[in-house]
Amino acid sequence: MSTAWRNWAGTEAAVATGVSRPRHLEELSSAVRAAAQAGGTVRARGSGHSFTAVAAAHDLALDLTNWTGVVSADQDSGLVTVRAGTTLRELNAELDRLGLAMTNLGDIDAQTIAGAISTGTHGTGARFGGMATQVAALQLVLADGSVTTCSADERPELFAAARVGLGALGVISTVTLRTEPSFVLEAQERPEPLEEVLAALEENCATNDHFEFYWFPYGRYALTKRNNRLPAGTSPRPLSRARRFVEYRLMENTAFGTLCRVGRAVPGLVAPLNRLSSSALSTRSYSDVSHRVFATNRNVRFVESEYAVPRAALGEVLAELRARVPRLADPVMFPAEIRVAAADDIWLSTAYQRDSAYIAVHQFVGMPYREYFDLFESVAGAVGGRPHWGKMHSLDAATLRERYPRFDDFVALRAELDPAGTFSNPYLDRVLGKAAEKP
Ligand SMILES: Cc1cc2nc3c(=O)[nH]c(=O)nc-3n(C[C@H](O)[C@H](O)[C@H](O)COP(=O)(O)OP(=O)(O)OC[C@H]3O[C@@H](n4cnc5c(N)ncnc54)[C@H](O)[C@@H]3O)c2cc1C
Repeated sequence: MSTAWRNWAGTEAAVATGVSRPRHLEELSSAVRAAAQAGGTVRARGSGHSFTAVAAAHDLALDLTNWTGVVSADQDSGLVTVRAGTTLRELNAELDRLGLAMTNLGDIDAQTIAGAISTGTHGTGARFGGMATQVAALQLVLADGSVTTCSADERPELFAAARVGLGALGVISTVTLRTEPSFVLEAQERPEPLEEVLAALEENCATNDHFEFYWFPYGRYALTKRNNRLPAGTSPRPLSRARRFVEYRLMENTAFGTLCRVGRAVPGLVAPLNRLSSSALSTRSYSDVSHRVFATNRNVRFVESEYAVPRAALGEVLAELRARVPRLADPVMFPAEIRVAAADDIWLSTAYQRDSAYIAVHQFVGMPYREYFDLFESVAGAVGGRPHWGKMHSLDAATLRERYPRFDDFVALRAELDPAGTFSNPYLDRVLGKAAEKP
């Protein structure tokens, strides 16, 4: 088992002193207990899709690739319990077999369920929360090796904290999800003038189940995506295999990757190439089983930062970025993605107690991004933006405390459950403070 770890984007790496790959709950809890008794630290690994070092293990790494699959499923209530290392792809396949589905998902399905919820992974939809809002209960291994469960009725404070827990409170062993009968989504994707998209933003969010758009910094057009539920029993009309191959594999991955490499080699071409990509956008409409519409493959590697801002502040943030991004010294190859989510009650959720708009900025790997991301962080920070826990940002505990009303409650619970900092790593020390520091 490899002690060396690297994240998907290649921006973070760490070497653990040991790796445990549990197959049983007892192995999971005894690995944690032994590490804690030896004064060491433990981090669970997901699929490595966070852009930050949140998952980095410098002592014991828990590899959960053998800790997967559905434990129980109740088709009447829709409650499905899965082991923490199950990837979303595996989860969706299992749910398909059961005639069930996740209510909302993000852009890809490579993450593990525990990794996804732990950093606040979300999709889009003004009436829908992030993935952690679909969690009904968690089973956790705490720092002393004991096993506990939490839900809205059982240890509700732990439940409010641990659903987006950054791996700081314990190792999640199982996640119980509130699923629903499987459904078909109709997707409509088309280029539209950015001005019109912004003018109709509230209406688009209100009249579509899942609305989002991509903003190309040098182009006049945005790519809008509207995904809407079709009535139960509707047969899907998916894209043909040939069209999927051409549009997703060739155009969105292979051809776009080639454009990115050209732009990286000749930065002067980035703005015209960016305009070309935005004007070459095509319209497409299809319907499919929900998870096949929510998630696509991302083969072109990039770096990313994302902030949640109050929904009402989105126009102001975008206006500022539109004015300043084209003047950056280093051009930007990738479009920004704009999504929305409903307010929730999870302490460290980026949408805690506020309807949110998410702005995600990207740059092709190997191209300069610092100036762009710094500008983005200052613009989003000016309206109280909260950074995605799994995406690049520069904030520390002192600033984050001001952005999260229940931040100190989370830190206090962490101090109570993990006084020795068994689950800490340098990223958590930065964003939450050192484990032993009381608020
Ligand atoms: C191409 C790409 C697309 C993405 N799309 C989206 C998107 O659409 N929406 C969005 O919000 N985010 C998105 N992300 C970010 C991604 O969803 C998150 O960073 C997520 O945390 C990654 O999950 P993972 O399984 O790879 O976890 P990792 O990155 O490996 O780990 C994340 C955290 O979870 C912890 N963890 C893992 N397992 C456990 C466990 N059993 N118990 C306790 N803690 C645990 C880790 O210790 C770490 O703290 C994307 C990332 C990439 C690279």
